[in-house]
Amino acid sequence: METITGCAICGFPMEYRPNLYVENGICGACINAKAKKDIDFQARQKWLTQHLEQSKQLAGGGEENYDCVIGVSGGKDSHMIVKRLVQNHNVKNPLLITTYDESTRTQAGVHNLNNIAEFFDADHIIYRYKPKTCKQEMKECFEKYLNPYMLAELRLGSFESEVVKIAKAFKVRDVFYGEDAAYEYGSTKELNIFHKQSTDELKFIFMGAIYPYGYLDSMHEARSVGFKDLQDFHEWYRQGSVEHFAQIDSIGYMVQYWCKFVKFGAQRTTDMATRLCREGAIEREQALLYINEADHILDPLAKYDICQTMGIAESYFDKIVDSHANTKIVKKDANGVWRRIKKVV
Ligand SMILES: [Zn+2]
Repeated sequence: METITGCAICGFPMEYRPNLYVENGICGACINAKAKKDIDFQARQKWLTQHLEQSKQLAGGGEENYDCVIGVSGGKDSHMIVKRLVQNHNVKNPLLITTYDESTRTQAGVHNLNNIAEFFDADHIIYRYKPKTCKQEMKECFEKYLNPYMLAELRLGSFESEVVKIAKAFKVRDVFYGEDAAYEYGSTKELNIFHKQSTDELKFIFMGAIYPYGYLDSMHEARSVGFKDLQDFHEWYRQGSVEHFAQIDSIGYMVQYWCKFVKFGAQRTTDMATRLCREGAIEREQALLYINEADHILDPLAKYDICQTMGIAESYFDKIVDSHANTKIVKKDANGVWRRIKKVV
């Protein structure tokens, strides 16, 4: 079997990520993780408290005004962000905004979305975009780009998102998100506090630039304020996953990540295994096992759920996947399952 060499630290198969930078056999994500140790996060945390106070004054200083907007899915990162802003940065009246996911919510997801507003006694807007149109768009994005959540993600996380529009409507000056994915996954070298499209009136702040972002750190912070995961409910033991506490809000959501496997040769399982390795939770050898033996697995319930949401048959799903598969990187095994051609070593 042909092999390729993964990152010397985490095992990530570097040729499978467009835009990833690599130096001396080490991936950008590992280089950035090390570079974080030289960032003065305490100074950034001090700055944030002052910045939020200044924003409050600029907005008129009234108690009735929102201090900031936080885009929340209800997941571990959402809980971590709200907790830190409230407990460490004097935020008293945040506005939480969720964009509704049309896939079926898990029990843990229902609990967490409810918990995040209740625990902090915060106002919470759940924005649901036209359901029929949304499902139709998911189907079209899946057919065309093999990326069912492409438009839904823009409504959640971009500077043109509904979250930002609502923040503007309430004259809020700061919008918070979690990690800066470009930095965490090694496609940029700068860990900037502000999203580059931030303006004088509206700042888009990455909490991962204020506190060093960590997968396990977020989970511990979240659990301390009532976050629960799939295991707490014994509801769904996902196939092909490294853990049971991330991206658990809905059942079908994770399919978009799996779609990257057939297109690029690596998906979330590899991302998470290498991340856990970077955080010291597992060894490189273990990460390689996940990369080679689990990354190709599509959880059957997740597949069923997203097919239901998009209103298509599973056989049609397979047909679309086949039409997008990059056969230079993946090939079907005897059971008709797409597998990576090369083994990562
Ligand atoms: Zn690496």
